[in-house]
Amino acid sequence: MKKITVAIDGYSSCGKSTVAKDLAREVGYVYVDSGAMYRCVTLFCQQKNLITDGKVEEVKLRSLLPQVKIEFRKNAEGKADAYLNGENVESEIRSLKVSSQVSIVAALPFVREALVALQQEMGKAKGVVMDGRDIGTTVFPDAELKIFMTADPEVRAQRRYLELKEKGQEEPFEAILENVKQRDYIDEHREVSPLRKADDAVVLDNGNITREEQKEFILNLFKQRTGA
Ligand code: C5P
Repeated sequence: MKKITVAIDGYSSCGKSTVAKDLAREVGYVYVDSGAMYRCVTLFCQQKNLITDGKVEEVKLRSLLPQVKIEFRKNAEGKADAYLNGENVESEIRSLKVSSQVSIVAALPFVREALVALQQEMGKAKGVVMDGRDIGTTVFPDAELKIFMTADPEVRAQRRYLELKEKGQEEPFEAILENVKQRDYIDEHREVSPLRKADDAVVLDNGNITREEQKEFILNLFKQRTGA
């Protein structure tokens, strides 16, 4: 069966990673979480105190960026954890502290340039499912299957709230909703690779469908595109 590239983009906390992981597991592809990479760079900025009043010290970050080493390593459960300079930061990068600053870091053109190059390298052999905001438009414009996911902000914030709570990082629902809306706004309005649906992407609004239904929906599209 021919190997393809699957690009899954969409708004914050839409469940892109759940869809992407389910599909990758089902078809034996590699899953890459591009958002985790932007989150790692943001955590690095916070560790080095490079963000003040919502502004990033760009000159410093540009010079330090070559020191940022991002990897994904499988944990005991077979899931990929994000590592920043050798340290497991999987839980820390999901915190509201990182979420609240990631979109300003992700809007910096030189950060995007570096991470897009890394993502293209990771996916060059195909057989990859990557989720993010610009995968179908910028990272892999020739991806054979592109999905654009959306759902109401309230539904998405509720999911994120429960996710954080499960990890013992309970935050007020209103703060999470505000963060989801704010990230969407910055992601859609930045100059470089703004969040938008690729012309050839299939829209999936998963506000009212079950995980099983969405899995089947994507798997059918995958089969069509691979000729399986
Ligand atoms: O997917 P996730 O919500 O973890 O992504 C965190 C943030 O990283 C997004 O809100 C967005 O600002 C940025 N991002 C991006 N391009 C990607 C993936 C994520 O700008 N391909």
